[in-house]
Amino acid sequence: MKLDVDALRYLSKDDFRVLTAVEMGMRNHEIVPSELIDRIAGLKHGGTYKVLKNLLKHKLVHHDSSKYDGFRLTYLGYDFLAIKALVNRGVFAAVGRQIGVGKESDIFEVATEDGTVLAMKLHRLGRTSFRAVKSKRDYLLHRKSFNWLYLSRLAALKEFAFMKALGEHGFPVPNAVDCNRHCIVMSLVLGYPLVQVRELRNPDVVFETIVGLVVRLAEHGLIHCDFNEFNIMIDDDENITMIDFPQMVSVAHRNGQMYFDRDVDGIYKFFRKRFNHSVVEDSHSSHETESDIEEEERPSFSSLAKATGFLDKELAASGFTRREQEQIESFIEGSEAENSSGSDEDDVDDSEFMPEKVDEDLSSLNSLRLADQDGDDDDDDDDAHSPDNGDAVLHRRLVKQRRRAVAAAQGGRKTLSSRNSYKEKGSKGAQSSSKAMRQACKW
Ligand code: ADP
Ligand code: MG
Repeated sequence: MKLDVDALRYLSKDDFRVLTAVEMGMRNHEIVPSELIDRIAGLKHGGTYKVLKNLLKHKLVHHDSSKYDGFRLTYLGYDFLAIKALVNRGVFAAVGRQIGVGKESDIFEVATEDGTVLAMKLHRLGRTSFRAVKSKRDYLLHRKSFNWLYLSRLAALKEFAFMKALGEHGFPVPNAVDCNRHCIVMSLVLGYPLVQVRELRNPDVVFETIVGLVVRLAEHGLIHCDFNEFNIMIDDDENITMIDFPQMVSVAHRNGQMYFDRDVDGIYKFFRKRFNHSVVEDSHSSHETESDIEEEERPSFSSLAKATGFLDKELAASGFTRREQEQIESFIEGSEAENSSGSDEDDVDDSEFMPEKVDEDLSSLNSLRLADQDGDDDDDDDDAHSPDNGDAVLHRRLVKQRRRAVAAAQGGRKTLSSRNSYKEKGSKGAQSSSKAMRQACKW
């Protein structure tokens, strides 16, 4: 497939108008009827159809004529809408290399006008957990617009809200910069996931810091729920940063104890295995076994002084409602249940929630330079977008990297982020007014 890395730059105002019209239509339709798109976009003389063709060429929309003639956004289309909005807001000016890939997210470096490098996380809820999505459809049916866009947007909103609130409370998290749709922008952590570290100078200190963080979170009324070596970053000075918050819950959650114990247990196990770390001290009597002592020393959920209300206050302030919190929790729990049941996915029809094959989607984003924020020119000439020779080499490398990462995320080899292989183990298996357009951009 030819990579059209500069697509964003060459898309015209009309292209974005139609793309936004598709997004608006998706509030009520999984496949948006072409006529509706035309009505929402309100372009003259059948202009919408020409634009749709162009969007299709760039893989920003997917055509479906199985029930009626219609379109839906692809991940890439949704990515472009979010990126465009953030670029227009001046949050960043260029998208660089991919630095992380998870089952439910892609992380890229982005650069601001003044050259500061930040991290951009694009949420991909529903990328893998199709059955879980389907099993939750009844629950979410009252929201007509329920789909992967909605879930991914919720995940981003929640993660952004948590990152901000945690940062304000002095937790070591990336600085939350901005958020749009399913995309969050945060400071770049200059470190590596702990899982990549073979040796520590001060394993005891690092261990205590990490366990201390779980405890302090609980004291603030929160449980991370995925607090493991893949979501803990460490730098050369052994400073810790925690990342990845879409699955956090309140200590008041009915499974709070279990989630807390699981986070703590995972850290104990990892440190024992990787760093041969033990909390056993010489002062203990010889009758006690190592596990007895460890049991004693472990933070206990029931004995912690847990604050509650953090979620309600902080999250409500950021616009993340309790109902949204419940929806996303329900989805995540559904995915977990799927993963732990060990069911295979042979009978899963992913077409409904997977607009495109993943590697077709994001390849175009790699090393994308956004030179022109408005992109007024409607340029249909393919060759005009071709990367030059140097870029072509870079491209091939990025595509290869991306393929390997996708293969890993889909159950193949261990690559880019070892986190993927870890997760794999657990988961077998109306004529529009400009006001309406503005609202759509907020959505
Ligand atoms: P997921 O929800 O898919 O697990 P994460 O937020 O854990 O996504 O990010 C996946 C990977 O991307 C991380 O393991 C890390 O390597 C990288 N990453 C995420 N956020 C940042 C950041 N702010 N700075 C640097 N790298 C990051
Ligand atoms: Mg993660």
